Amino acid sequence: MSDWNPDEYVIEPAEGKDRFHDFALPLPLMRGIFELGYEYCTPIQSGVLPLSLSDYDVTGQAQTGTGKTAAFLITILTHCFENPLESPAQPGCPRALVLAPTRELALQIEGDAKALGRFMEETTMAVVGGMDFQRQRDLLHAGPIDILVATPGRLIDFVNRRDVNLRHVEILVIDEADRMLDMGFVPDVRRIVYQTPPKRKRQTLFFSATFNDDVMRLAESWTLEPEHVAIMPEQVTTDRVEQKFWLVSADHKARKLVEFINRAQPERMLIFANRRDQTHQLYRYLVKHGIECEPLAGDVPQKKRLSTLNRFKNGGIHYIVATDVAGRGIHVDGISHVVNYDLPEDSEDYVHRIGRTGRAGAEGISISFVSEDDAFNLPALEDYLGRKIQCTQPDF
Ligand code: AMP
Repeated sequence: MSDWNPDEYVIEPAEGKDRFHDFALPLPLMRGIFELGYEYCTPIQSGVLPLSLSDYDVTGQAQTGTGKTAAFLITILTHCFENPLESPAQPGCPRALVLAPTRELALQIEGDAKALGRFMEETTMAVVGGMDFQRQRDLLHAGPIDILVATPGRLIDFVNRRDVNLRHVEILVIDEADRMLDMGFVPDVRRIVYQTPPKRKRQTLFFSATFNDDVMRLAESWTLEPEHVAIMPEQVTTDRVEQKFWLVSADHKARKLVEFINRAQPERMLIFANRRDQTHQLYRYLVKHGIECEPLAGDVPQKKRLSTLNRFKNGGIHYIVATDVAGRGIHVDGISHVVNYDLPEDSEDYVHRIGRTGRAGAEGISISFVSEDDAFNLPALEDYLGRKIQCTQPDF
């Protein structure tokens, strides 16, 4: 801590926005937030933090990409910091439990907790299915864990084997409750919730992108007089985006992209691939063919991501190759083109991707490469968009 001066973290007050400075957060947590480059709170953070930091239960309606993860992690880290335990916790007895429906989400939350808590003593660990059971078990026994992030099935295994004891959980977070429902995890989640202290003895934060009757029922049974915070999904309009779908075989995609860039010289273009490894592979291919660009994926260090974004904003580089998750953090105006190098598996991601262009009255162009592999994703996308998609040959 000694080498950090909080005066380094200067954010001017701004109308209608909250700063993290406004919440009297622990200094080492402020440093973590500073290092992540966050300036102002996102709307869900502004809505949730005043309530959650005052120990209220909260039900939050927000999608991925709104900053909800930091909202609950800042709450947990602040609570643990301000309420130190008199004697160290036993291994396997977390102070906070975060339940997430998928392994990817759980690992992302674990990563965010480690980044935010980088200068704090609080420890975080993920227990997730499909990955090394014994290693996770050894880690659980290695020492106290403050924040446990888990997918339901794997957590139940550990609870049944008494590797994890949830009786001392002070804060319970249920993330993406609607997806838990869709994926049939509710019976598992219910069993887990009953292993934690009764709701009046814990704080519960419950997040879901949608709140239908089923989700409401769960929220009511697991939270106590919650305050509700709703953030409407970003209104993504695609009206101003000219959407092209080009038939390009998988083997020719990279070459076609280079040809397109060389001919059209787009001013500011985001290129989306479906996976991290594809993102890096494409980035290397483009650089090898003389196209200056940068990758933006979850495994790129945050500092590097920020500098990439800044260069993209000020015109230092014209092209970024991104994954969906990294792409959500991109709020840059004046993006002229979006390329879907692969069609996303989730149609909602398609709309989010192309919504990065055509903003604030500007016209944008989206180009989707449709290969034999991508064709599988077309019918779902047609249903989602409510229209037939015309695929054409590239127009050059
Ligand atoms: P989430 O909705 O939690 O998945 O967060 C989406 C992205 O927003 C993540 O990459 C976070 O690192 C980032 N993020 C969260 N809070 C802020 C903030 N206040 N300012 C800038 N970025 C943020």
